Amino acid sequence: MRQKINRQFTVIALFSVVITTIVMTAVFYAQLKKQVFSDLAVVADILTDGGSCERKIDNLRITLIDTDGKVLSDSTVDGQSLANHLGRPEIAEAVSSGTGMGIRKSDTLSESVFYYAKKLDNGQILRVGREAHSVVAVLLSALPMVLTTALLLAAICLMVSHYLTSAIVKPIDEMAGDMEHIDEGKSYPELIPFTRKIRLQHEEILSAANIRQEFTANVSHELKTPLAAISGYAELMEAGLVDEKEMKRFAGEIRKSAARLLTLINDILKLSQLDAGNAKDVLDVVNLAEIAKESVEMLSYGAAKNGIDIVYEGEDRADVHIGKELAQELAYNLIENAIRYNKPDGRVTVEVQKDGQQVIFSVEDTGIGIPPEHQERIFERFYRVDKSRSKELGGTGLGLAIVKHICNLTDADVSLTSKPGGGTKILVVWGRGSARMIKEL
Ligand code: ADP
Repeated sequence: MRQKINRQFTVIALFSVVITTIVMTAVFYAQLKKQVFSDLAVVADILTDGGSCERKIDNLRITLIDTDGKVLSDSTVDGQSLANHLGRPEIAEAVSSGTGMGIRKSDTLSESVFYYAKKLDNGQILRVGREAHSVVAVLLSALPMVLTTALLLAAICLMVSHYLTSAIVKPIDEMAGDMEHIDEGKSYPELIPFTRKIRLQHEEILSAANIRQEFTANVSHELKTPLAAISGYAELMEAGLVDEKEMKRFAGEIRKSAARLLTLINDILKLSQLDAGNAKDVLDVVNLAEIAKESVEMLSYGAAKNGIDIVYEGEDRADVHIGKELAQELAYNLIENAIRYNKPDGRVTVEVQKDGQQVIFSVEDTGIGIPPEHQERIFERFYRVDKSRSKELGGTGLGLAIVKHICNLTDADVSLTSKPGGGTKILVVWGRGSARMIKEL
């Protein structure tokens, strides 16, 4: 950019200098011509007012022509040898209008000559001529001065163009070097929308990088615990430090840790698939009510083992553009949590409702509830209110992050109401105006 601006400035500057030089020379020449003709007119007047028309003056050709065009005298050549002059333009003009002017190549002198012709009272024509080379000589004498000025101007223009280029480019360079204050854009207000966008993107990139880094650190940390347990148990068994009776328990611990690793990796894979961006392409319309009922059925056996009663209420049919896999994932995660964080003899109510264009999926439990200060954060990856309880119950801390992702993908709003010790209700709403509806609930 700097090079381009500099080049353009330089071209404009040099072009102006050349044009100015040419115009100035042309104007100077025109003035000079006028001056030469006016000088010739004065000489002609002096010669007629008492001077002799047959005089010789340096650098001037003085010719006297008779009324019939015959040359009576000429200061440079023998007048007798000259052809009839009536046809010469300046003479013809003088005959008709009193005076005549012309610049042309003289047949006699084989050189360009400035001519001024004047009709005398007796009808004869007096013509005064001056050779062009004397005029050009004046012009040439001014040329060094003109050229020096032009070169000086060109040098100044180059310096100014260089300075202006730097002045234009400097604020942009500064902006690029200081992303933090990019939207202050003091020098170029026109660039503010552009710089804001860059800053926003810059922040988004930074925050995405931070999230990724934090996620990687969390994943490594979560994988480390079960792996360390597996490795520890195996080491003891290898060293023969575990007796026959303990062996079964150790194998069980290893299996549990391996199962935990598998669930973790599964959840991480699900999240990365949802992140991939093409998850939205495969969403088709499914009956969410049916999927919710199936999930309740599947999970009710495990719930009953913990003395938890789980019921489905609501519609038999409610179509949502979500795809079977994501619908199952969403229902499972919410219902599993409602069972996992419940109390003995608790209850879970799963509901699918329709309200005009909206479909509302809700999971309500009578469990331990979520303290208000945690409610905002439980949808974050690996965020858990009680880490050891979650781990003990086979939680990965990723379930609600997956739910949130699915909601974003399917344009749903998710919200929760919860009372510590009293239970939790999580609502997912598809359809327009859903945010307003949640507030009313
Ligand atoms: P986890 O695998 O730990 O259950 P989630 O992302 O599903 O991870 O949930 C995050 C945290 O939110 C849980 O650890 C738990 O503390 C809290 N939580 C989620 N659902 C409920 C619920 N129904 N009742 C009480 N707490 C819940």
